Order: sequence, then C-alpha cells, then structure tokens
Amino acid sequence: MQNKSSILLIYTGGTIGMINDPITGELKSFDFKHMYDQIPELNRLPIEIDSISISKPIDSSEITTAHWINLVEILEENYAKYDGFVILHGSDTMAYTASALSFMIQGISKPIILTGSQLPIGTIRTDGKENLITAIEIAAQKDEHNQSIVQEVCVYFEYSLYRGNRSSKVSANQFEAFRSPNYPPLAVAGVTIEYDSNRLFRSQATSPTFWKKMETSVGLIKLFPGMPFEGYKSLFDVSLFKAIVIETFGSGNASSDPLFQSLITAYIQSGGLIINVSQCSSGSVRQGKYETSSFFQKAGVISGFDMTSEAALTKSMFVLSQKQSLDISKKLMQNSFCGEITVS
Ligand code: ASP
Repeated sequence: MQNKSSILLIYTGGTIGMINDPITGELKSFDFKHMYDQIPELNRLPIEIDSISISKPIDSSEITTAHWINLVEILEENYAKYDGFVILHGSDTMAYTASALSFMIQGISKPIILTGSQLPIGTIRTDGKENLITAIEIAAQKDEHNQSIVQEVCVYFEYSLYRGNRSSKVSANQFEAFRSPNYPPLAVAGVTIEYDSNRLFRSQATSPTFWKKMETSVGLIKLFPGMPFEGYKSLFDVSLFKAIVIETFGSGNASSDPLFQSLITAYIQSGGLIINVSQCSSGSVRQGKYETSSFFQKAGVISGFDMTSEAALTKSMFVLSQKQSLDISKKLMQNSFCGEITVS
C-alpha cells in the first residue's frame, strides 16, 4: 500500500484569496487563513496538506524576480519533505512565474502546480475550489512505482493541466483563462483525471538544481505596422538591456525599415541578444522563410521558435544570470531545457 501523499500549499495572493474592500469596492489580498476556512473539503482529501504563505500576499501584477527567488528558496527548503507542491498565484502573471520557475528549478521529479481563480474563493460561483482541489490531487498523484505522475512545473486552470512554460493567460473574464497553443494539455480533469503520459516531461538529471538569480535588464518590443522606430532608438542599448525579445509578425517577419535594421545590427555587434518570437499564439518562428525575416537570420537574431513571450523573456533572464559568454548564451537560448520549445 502506498503512503498518504504530502503536499505543501504555497500562497502568494491573487484573486483566489481576495475579498472586496467594503469602502472602495476594490478586490484586495486577504490573509491565507480566510481562504483556508472557505474550503473545508480540503480536510476530506486523503492527502496531508501543509501550507505556507509569502510574508505579504499580493496581486500578481506586483510580482518581481525577488518573489520568484523567494519561491525557489521555499521550494528548495521543502523539496525533500513533500511529494508535491501547489502554488496559489494570481492568474495575471501566472504564466510568467510558471515559466520562470521551470528554468530556475530543473531536474525535478515532483510536481510544482500553479493555480488560482477568476473569482475569489469566498464567492458562490467561485472557480477557485475546483482549481485548488484538483491541483492538490494532481500534485499528490503517484504511479504504481510510487513516482509522481507529473514531474514538472505546470499551470492547472478550469479542468486542464498545462506545461507552465507553454501556457499564456488568454482571457480576463472566462473561467477558461489559460491556453497552451503550441503544446497539448498534459491532463484533462473530468470524472477522472486523464493524463497524456507521452507528453509529460521527464528530466535526465538525477537531482534538482535551484537557481536563485535572474538578470532583470531584458526588454520586450512588440512590432506594429507603421512603427516610429526613431522613438525606439534609445532602447537598443546594451547598457540598458542585455537582451531584447521582439514580438514579430507571423512566422517571425518584420518591416525592412533601414533604421530598424541598423539598430538591430549595431545592438548585436555591441553584445546584445535579440530573440525573435511570434505575435501569433500558435506556430513557430522560421527565420528565412520570407524575405522579411531573412535579415534577422543574417544579423544573428536568435529564433525563439515556438516559445511563448513569457518563456522567452524569463529564459533570457535565467540564461543571462549565468554570465556565460555571448556564444554560449545564444546556444542556451535555443536549447530546450524543459519542454519550452518543440524540437523536431
Ligand atoms: N489581478 C489578479 C492577480 O493576478 C487576477 C487573478 O488572480 O486572477 O493577482
């Protein structure tokens, strides 16, 4: 017989634990105890659940790299003690945190599941109860060899389990707030939880690594037709940004405006990294497919392939924090560390 699984619930804030301020009507973070009281069902699960809260629960719009480092510290400290981890987090930046944690904590053999909700847990129609209870069940589930079924950082929302670094928030009002357009869900929860076992990530590492640094000098530029590149000139400066993620059109295309091209060339020559990701939510960058992307290839722009912007940004923060040579950093950006890129 298998032992009861033990889960650590880490509360960071977000709508799930918020209440309405009676004076301003705004939703504000409340303390974790309140949230726990709303779900007596947790006591009925055959799972041992401990909980911990970050010192000041926040709306996830306030998340910084310092919070990610704090989460890595909490997870490192508790990794050996629990079978799985559930992080309660606001949905607004959940895909960024999930992507960041997938790079900062590699080689895991236990699940780290982020979840939250669109309606506070205390409201009658809340989606928070189902999200939380199922996330805990997934984090606790083991196979017949007593190994965790999920061994990666994931987002669980509205009956679907997604790879964290493939997920994006796509709706501000639907319960189905997340999608993973370039990778199918890892599991779908119905009457039973159906895992797509061929899609689950398995690391070759024998033990996990916990990385507690992130380089914050990275930029993100979204292209649009008729863009006044003159106004963006000052951004292409390596003393401001060590890497810039550019959200391009379609399969990685952009205007052939000479000023834009000269800014990119000079920036790369002075040691900056440019990563090309698509504005389309699905599909992949293919530099050189069109004339309007060949320049990127020649200039040394790094293809982000089918990475989400959230993954490309947080991966560049992670890679740059390792202070490797430019060539190694470029190679690392194009390697898939934990399933964030489709390798054909
Ligand atoms: N603003 C909230 C947050 O991200 C939204 C949510 O939790 O769904 O913290």
